[in-house]
Amino acid sequence: MIWNRVLDHQRQLQYLKQLAKVPQKAPVLLFAGPSGVGKKLVAIGWAQALLCAEKDAPCGKCRHCLRVDSGNHPDVLRFQSEEGSTVKLEQARDLSQRAWMKPYEASRKVIVVDDFEKLTSQAANALLKTLEEPPEETYFVLLTSQVGAVLPTIISRAKVIHFGRLSQASLLKLKPDLPQWAIDTQLGSLDDVGLIADPKFKQTFELATKALKSLWTYRTYDAFTQLGELSEEKNLALFTVRVWLLQIRSALVGKIETVKTQTVALEKLSTGDLLKLSQLVVRLEQDIQSHINRSLAFEKFWLDTQSIQKGMSSS
Ligand SMILES: [Zn+2]
Repeated sequence: MIWNRVLDHQRQLQYLKQLAKVPQKAPVLLFAGPSGVGKKLVAIGWAQALLCAEKDAPCGKCRHCLRVDSGNHPDVLRFQSEEGSTVKLEQARDLSQRAWMKPYEASRKVIVVDDFEKLTSQAANALLKTLEEPPEETYFVLLTSQVGAVLPTIISRAKVIHFGRLSQASLLKLKPDLPQWAIDTQLGSLDDVGLIADPKFKQTFELATKALKSLWTYRTYDAFTQLGELSEEKNLALFTVRVWLLQIRSALVGKIETVKTQTVALEKLSTGDLLKLSQLVVRLEQDIQSHINRSLAFEKFWLDTQSIQKGMSSS
């Protein structure tokens, strides 16, 4: 059974197992969550549950289950946009037409649409009618890592199931040779693991750690140079934010548990200041996500942290 290979997400699987008894209650599912955490595997498992011929579905052994598992069941349609491109109107129309065709072999048909946020609004609108009243025995699973980019009209027609990041234990099971810095960064998806191979992320981890300390050493020049470097690439800027939030959190936990943490400079801050700092980092993340000039966003962040430094000197 495909679902036996899913790590974590047990609550979601429980829900789907119940739903599989009355799938017509939710003909359109929207799986929302980071990429690389197993949403696709859960979706294919869902197809297995719906197409299985046995009473206790999915059995994992019948003809349908085996064909779904091997990826060549004619009643499971996988729809994926090409790398880096959006899904256009014609493709959405084609998908809509295929949704209306009768299943070939099973009693139902499952359509899995990956990266649903990549549909242009025209394409999504073309699908809207089909999603609103899907043909009988046709079931959709839409996958997205950016639920905010999916049209609200689509969301309102779907049953949304949220997926979180993978636990460290699961990630270590998949990748037993994770380096310590990656464990410290609490990567939570297989896509994240892919990042480890890129030396830029290790360098950014080290630079971000140094920069957070520079904020409190009054070496303005160092701080500006480091922040400038960190702001250069969007994905690295976002990774920086994550490193900082985790280090602030670990300092906060240190306050509560009075254990010694790695982040020496942060230890000097009061709990209130740490919370304030984490708010500034979250705001920086929002600025990076929007289209504000990143190096300006990092400078603004630095300026905002100065009020916290004043708090330090007066205490
Ligand atoms: Zn079966």
